[in-house]
Amino acid sequence: MNKYVEVLLNILYPRHCPACHRILKDQKMLICPECEQAFCRVGKDYCLKCGKPVKKQEEYCRECSGLCRSFDQGKSVFVYNGKLRQSLVRYKYYGCREYGDYYADAICRYMRRDIMRWQPDVIVPVPLTGRKQRLRGFNQSAYLADRVGEQFQIPVAHGLVKKIHNTKSQKKLNAAQRKRNLADAFRTEENIRGLTVLVIDDVYTTGSTVDAMARCLKAAGAEYVYFITLCTGQQ
Ligand SMILES: [Zn+2]
Ligand SMILES: [Zn+2]
Repeated sequence: MNKYVEVLLNILYPRHCPACHRILKDQKMLICPECEQAFCRVGKDYCLKCGKPVKKQEEYCRECSGLCRSFDQGKSVFVYNGKLRQSLVRYKYYGCREYGDYYADAICRYMRRDIMRWQPDVIVPVPLTGRKQRLRGFNQSAYLADRVGEQFQIPVAHGLVKKIHNTKSQKKLNAAQRKRNLADAFRTEENIRGLTVLVIDDVYTTGSTVDAMARCLKAAGAEYVYFITLCTGQQ
């Protein structure tokens, strides 16, 4: 980009810190130095299936030990706590899209090894329903997927999976209800036989969303389905 255009853009739309929301003194940074440790990383004890933090010596979280998962494996960078929740609200609903650059950078940095190991052929962001996307103006997961794809030179398939039902908000439902609510929510008409797919989303809670995506992708022929989310809830 032209240097003057860049300077002008920085004045008109200054980049804010995704943790404290102050305008970044150095507009080339993605987070202020004092906030670099503001978000809590998932430690070394995590569920081998879904990446959720577990107690020491535990291999799987409660949910993964009791359920059969359609995805093969997944991981998250951060723990979904109050600070990150606030940050994501500003990112999703209040136009702070620049936060997405920091989130994507964190995914690339901390998930590099996993992405290299999984060797995905294609990245698929979790889609919103057409209506939701129109209302919100952008898909928060697609923004992250684009940047991760660019970094690792992996194609991002935006329209591959469509969300068709206007499913009820998942927040108020328990795990079984979530599963029912999401059954058939995702559809694809493509044949992706033999491909390894990496699903990207912002938040992982019970896993019902990525699991429904994985079921849809495997039904369309995907051989392996992995996922990365920016953050994960605790057990
Ligand atoms: Zn800050
Ligand atoms: Zn798990």
